[in-house]
Amino acid sequence: MDKIPFNKIYTTGKELDYIFQATRAGKISGDGEFTVRCQDFFKRKFGFENTLFTPSCTDALELASLLLKIEPGDEVIMPSFTFVSTATPFVLRGAKIAFCDSRSDQPNLDENCLEALITKRTKAIVVVHYGGVACNMEAIMSVAEHHRIPVIEDAAQAVGSTFLSTPLGRFGAFSTFSFHETKNVNCGEGGMLVINDKQFGERAEIIREKGTNRSAFFRGQVAKYRWVDIGSSFLLSDINAAYLFAQLEALEPIQAKRIQLWDHYHSALKGLQDRDLLRLPFIPPYASNNAHLFYVICKNAKDRDGLMRFLQKRNIMAIVHYQSLHDSPFYKGMHQGGDLQWARIYTDYLLRLPLFVEMTVEQVSRVAEAIHDFFRMR
Ligand SMILES: *Cc1c(COP(=O)(O)O)cnc(C)c1O
Repeated sequence: MDKIPFNKIYTTGKELDYIFQATRAGKISGDGEFTVRCQDFFKRKFGFENTLFTPSCTDALELASLLLKIEPGDEVIMPSFTFVSTATPFVLRGAKIAFCDSRSDQPNLDENCLEALITKRTKAIVVVHYGGVACNMEAIMSVAEHHRIPVIEDAAQAVGSTFLSTPLGRFGAFSTFSFHETKNVNCGEGGMLVINDKQFGERAEIIREKGTNRSAFFRGQVAKYRWVDIGSSFLLSDINAAYLFAQLEALEPIQAKRIQLWDHYHSALKGLQDRDLLRLPFIPPYASNNAHLFYVICKNAKDRDGLMRFLQKRNIMAIVHYQSLHDSPFYKGMHQGGDLQWARIYTDYLLRLPLFVEMTVEQVSRVAEAIHDFFRMR
């Protein structure tokens, strides 16, 4: 049987044309023609008024961390069950992380745990829309607003998703997206910072331009550009933006195909959930689905590891996901919040299944049949 990889990049066919165009135009550093076209796309489609394209989502989070002036002694709340990049930009500034547990019905952070983690030193709440499925933004924003704490949405996986009818990325003071090759639309490596709180707009432009007012200079607002603040280098090359724009133009068919595969997985595996052999992803009524991930949650670690090996023997690449950050070699000694039961369960019981645009419905059926066989032959 052919190997079914976990992921495979998809190209629309226009990527190289656009890179060629950018090159011919003679401007391939940041803020070129294609960066502007990507910005327009997100403004038109999702109402993101102020976006800065960055070399990665990690960089976008670092920029947010610098803008919030995170410093040693500050605390930042975030889920434990997330990618390490959610945490490192804040740890780099000296913050202590207060890790929050996941919900019992799905891996997003449990909004009911937030209030207890807030202290006088809390400087930010970072939420992660796991698998592109919205966190309960109404409940989260209400706690955050009550305590006047800025929210950052790590929307790395959430392009095109909504909470009720509002696009994810529109709730937090900042939100960040990833265009890494593993995401629904990508440019190899790339990211985006959405700035919803206007007070940060001007300083964001300066910090990402090495601490200079170069952006204002290019707009003709200052006669020469000077070093005016701390900074770093956070611009996305227009070569990457050109590649990304080709993908954005195909966002709708890409999402539609992923959703078709996702729905097929769900109906092919639902019988196993009905027999209580495993759990399938739960999409709350307030959330839409961009089909970034399909996963199953086994009853225990033995089932999960056994199923993973069984699928690998059939040439199907299914893989585990996050290893809870509160229990990581780096942070374990510093974590003060005790056991986070659900984060641990998703770490040990969750298995992600192959899902990529060029996957066929037949391949999804083959994966689902193999999973049925695993439970039949046990
Ligand atoms: C992919 C991902 C990131 C990191 O994105 P990069 O663009 O690779 O920096 C951060 N957070 C989450 C939740 C992700 O899935």
